[in-house]
Amino acid sequence: MGGKVTWEKGSRSLLTAGSQTKTVEVVDVRTAEVRLKPSHILVTGGAGFIGSNFVRWGLQHDYEVRVTNLDLLTYAGNLNSLTDIALRFGETGDGRYRFVKGDIRDSDLVRTLIKGEKSNETSVNVVVHFAAESHVDRSIMTPAAFVDTNVKGTQVLLECCREELESYPRDFLFVHVSTDEVYGDLSSTGQASTEESPLRPNNPYSASKAAADHMVRAYVRTFGIPAITTRCSNNYGPFQFPEKLIPLAITRALGDCSIPVYGDGRQVRDWIHVSDHCEALWAIVERGRTGSTYNIGGESEVANLEVVERLLALLGKPAALIAHVNDRPGHDRRYAMDISKIRSHLNWAPKRSIEAGLRDTVEWYLGNGCWWEDVLSEAYRNVTAMYLSDGG
Ligand code: NAD
Repeated sequence: MGGKVTWEKGSRSLLTAGSQTKTVEVVDVRTAEVRLKPSHILVTGGAGFIGSNFVRWGLQHDYEVRVTNLDLLTYAGNLNSLTDIALRFGETGDGRYRFVKGDIRDSDLVRTLIKGEKSNETSVNVVVHFAAESHVDRSIMTPAAFVDTNVKGTQVLLECCREELESYPRDFLFVHVSTDEVYGDLSSTGQASTEESPLRPNNPYSASKAAADHMVRAYVRTFGIPAITTRCSNNYGPFQFPEKLIPLAITRALGDCSIPVYGDGRQVRDWIHVSDHCEALWAIVERGRTGSTYNIGGESEVANLEVVERLLALLGKPAALIAHVNDRPGHDRRYAMDISKIRSHLNWAPKRSIEAGLRDTVEWYLGNGCWWEDVLSEAYRNVTAMYLSDGG
């Protein structure tokens, strides 16, 4: 780790605010390999499921890095997921972590955070962008919110990075955390998606993520923003909001409630433990190639129904709890990821098998009832979930 970014330098005209043109030296990031010491990371959406796991992973693995966590605390954001982190690394601990409640669409706030609010504070040199509306069901109920947060929010972040780098050029990296869903679905025998596969999103969530991916690409090519897009498959593990399949099934089974499964349940997903995803993201922050896209996957294709059956077996609950409900409109049948690029470029591969991962996850939910019971009693009760209004 460490050292300089090896840019191919070039000169370009950039349009400044006020429509005046000025020529500045910018980097050609299309082929640049990151050799960046992450000193201050702005994590967006760090109170969500993957973001909170990433904040924990980063602070525990790098003893020097600072993390600013910007999160709006929507229904999906939960500071209880980071209580230990705030104590150990926050103001009362070693001071490397702080939380800022705010919106990624608030450009004044984002600009200030990237620059560094106080004179003695190191400026941000890495942004890892998780903040999003992330649930497909909700995107079918309220698509506009997904465009606002996922597309507009990403564009505001990119623009703030562009302004900052124009004023204070430095080694920098923007990591955009995206999803395998942008590739759309595959037939049961179709080849796994590579980074070169066309984007064919089929629901408002994946369409908004694909739009954000394109915006990142455009900022790389047009403005020379050093950015990387990652596309990961279905995550599971600790601190996942119990609207997603695995925590939903566990928490409902524990209460002996029916578990809604869409349609025939034969939709196949690739499953990855969140700790593997965090490790991949860290490798990308340290060694990724700017301007690139990396697929991240668990190499564990399992149908939704089988996931639920395995969970019920682990919990010693009857399969009779499974309740098939009307299928989700536009439901993709299969996703699968080809991860040869990240394997060969960054020597990363998932470590946890789905068997071990599911077992650990069940244990975590059994041991952390206070976390998910709080979540269920506060945010979740105010929300109408599709599968509940859909005969589930
Ligand atoms: P999540 O819903 O658990 O967390 C999203 C977080 O973003 C929440 O803490 C929320 O409060 C915050 N947020 C929402 N709108 C915001 C705004 N305008 N400003 C600031 N914060 C805001 O999501 P997750 O499952 O942790 O996913 C994180 C990212 O990873 C998303 O971008 C998602 O598309 C992507 N992803 C998720 C998966 C998965 O399986 N969960 C897989 C691949 C990619």
